[in-house]
Amino acid sequence: MTNTPPVCNYEGSDYQTSFWDQANRAYEDAAEAVALRRMLPASGELMLELGAGAGRNTHRYAGYKKIVLVDYSRTQLEQAQKRLGRDARLVFVAADVYRLPFVDGLFDGATMIRTLHHMADAPLALQQVERVMQTDGTFILEYASKQNLKAIARWLLGKQQWNPFTPEPVEFAALNFDFHPKAIRDWLGEVGFRIERTLTVSHLRMDLFKKLIPLKLLVAMDSLFSLTGNLWQLTPSVFVKNTATKQKPVAAGFFRCPACESAKLTEAGEVVICDDCHKTYSRVDGIYDFRVDGIK
Ligand SMILES: [Zn+2]
Repeated sequence: MTNTPPVCNYEGSDYQTSFWDQANRAYEDAAEAVALRRMLPASGELMLELGAGAGRNTHRYAGYKKIVLVDYSRTQLEQAQKRLGRDARLVFVAADVYRLPFVDGLFDGATMIRTLHHMADAPLALQQVERVMQTDGTFILEYASKQNLKAIARWLLGKQQWNPFTPEPVEFAALNFDFHPKAIRDWLGEVGFRIERTLTVSHLRMDLFKKLIPLKLLVAMDSLFSLTGNLWQLTPSVFVKNTATKQKPVAAGFFRCPACESAKLTEAGEVVICDDCHKTYSRVDGIYDFRVDGIK
């Protein structure tokens, strides 16, 4: 087994409540909803929601017949399950993005929102996403941009050490990264995605605006500014719609063993057993656990 980069773990976190529900994030949430509406295909077969957390965005993928929610944290998925119910169209999977437990070419849709932000090796994560996508599948990526107006102003005023215009990521807190838009474009292209559209989001993410401007107007203004996203990106949050371009055969199977990459897995009660390396993974209370530290 090869070593993979460290993972940001939200295990036991009350992120959904403290960040989204109580902290005046209605604007960010609504602005993301607008971007997703503009980018999502009207319908699809199988959606991979990476970094699904407590399932805040899952209802926005209702056009897909089946949605696979992936998060590294099992407790986040438990919250998602509670929120969304045990719907047969939903599959809950605790897994490491660097070892996605799915066969090649499986999904026709994927999203990764507010998640790349925590990736120490973003190109490797994007490569894994591309691997599990069908040819012509749609991948919507949101990332945190280092080249935003606030960071530029702070840098020009000498209040910030790091340069917002250079291509390398900045780790402003442990396992929290902001990326340069050009670096993201280059990585997406290198792993086999073609960028279709870019939307900038959260132009007005400042407490002052949130206080002064009614939410509906704030979101309407943001959705208008957002349309210049193909031309320049100066917001803290950027959405990119991509098409997977690599030619792949039709996927055979569904899960694959994250340890030995075999697609021969047998589900038996509350465990999933790899027929090749014989490792077992748990499937307790409707949540698959394919994390490496779950390997026995
Ligand atoms: Zn195996």
